[in-house]
Amino acid sequence: MIQPLPEIFALPSDQDATGRTFDQVELDYLRQALDSGVLTSTKGYFTKTFEKEFAELLGAKHARACASGSAAIHIAVAAIDPEPGDEIITTSITDMGALTPIIYQGAIPVFADVDPITLNVTGATIAAKISPKTKAIIVTHLFGNPAPMDEIMDVANRAGIPVIEDTAQAMLATYNGRTVGTIGAIGCFSLQQGKHITTGEGGVVVTNDPALDRKMYLYINKGWGYGDPKPDHYFLALNYRVSELQGAVALAQLQKLPSVVRRRQNLAAQFDAMIADIPGISAPKVAANSECAYWKYTLHVDSDVIKGGPVALGKMLGLSKIMTAPRYIVKPAFACEVIRDHKTFGKSQWPFTLARPEAVDYSLEKFPGTVEGLEHCLVLPWNDRYDEGHLLHIERSLRAAVKELTA
Ligand SMILES: *Cc1c(COP(=O)(O)O)cnc(C)c1O
Repeated sequence: MIQPLPEIFALPSDQDATGRTFDQVELDYLRQALDSGVLTSTKGYFTKTFEKEFAELLGAKHARACASGSAAIHIAVAAIDPEPGDEIITTSITDMGALTPIIYQGAIPVFADVDPITLNVTGATIAAKISPKTKAIIVTHLFGNPAPMDEIMDVANRAGIPVIEDTAQAMLATYNGRTVGTIGAIGCFSLQQGKHITTGEGGVVVTNDPALDRKMYLYINKGWGYGDPKPDHYFLALNYRVSELQGAVALAQLQKLPSVVRRRQNLAAQFDAMIADIPGISAPKVAANSECAYWKYTLHVDSDVIKGGPVALGKMLGLSKIMTAPRYIVKPAFACEVIRDHKTFGKSQWPFTLARPEAVDYSLEKFPGTVEGLEHCLVLPWNDRYDEGHLLHIERSLRAAVKELTA
């Protein structure tokens, strides 16, 4: 048996101060926001400045802050404005916050299968799901690893369908030299506690298209045309604004983002080399034309080599205080009650009542990549505050656990 290691080895965690960086800059900005007496982002300085600088950093024309990553997806879908029963292709392995907004907008989430190694959708898995009712495609860059955008954009462009990039886990990741989130029509980001930078809760939408930007701006603001000669509530929309308190922290956090991502990448490169000779596990596979943002570091575990696969390995690592997620979301998104049983508005099951039967066929044999991918993945927590000692601790614990499970 592996002996649990002393407390000193507990890894920095994004769930508390050990793995989050807030300093005097956040405090100064918060003080300034409070002193200004303006805490609404419709009038204050910080949220507007954050939006401008976030867009610049990404190389996008427009950015709008919003209440959460889920709100960002909702705003993007609302801007595309599907008819009830239209289909939006998405992925079977993602955060639920990327899926329920589709249903709230009256559209049907249609699940594309994933590559079993990267757990990302591909051009081929998306193409297999396109129908005359497809209105948009949402691509999640899972764990910070860019999905193959060339082939995806090719499929989307040929069908004339806009792509929404869910970049909640992939801030500043790049694909062919371009920042992900700026390749499709709209990019969606999250500032939730566990993401690269955080305001506790929060999100951002980005686009290069002024018409989409205008719609998204209105959607965040109850459809109200602030500043228009004759403003009105133009369409159905919510209040998805952030406050200036979030804007202040967001602007301070933004200055740290490039170094946070670079640090995570450097640590990952080091760790790739450290574990290269351990049998039965492989490092995340990042395409040669991509830079992963390493939200997490996801191992591929060969269950033929390692007895009990990711679950057994994760359990052993837990003894060394390395809190992993075997199988990530455990089951595909479509197997969650809300989607599997169409639990939506009252007993209506709307909008699923409008769906083509094939679009809501969740039989597992239709999703071989998803089944295989979940079976083999072990998600390691990753953090820019790791040092050499933390990497060594994870490496040693992995080595010991693999030895135990292959003996
Ligand atoms: C975190 C996350 C979301 C949702 O963001 P929230 O801010 O938690 O609402 C959406 N999609 C992905 C891929 C995420 O990781």
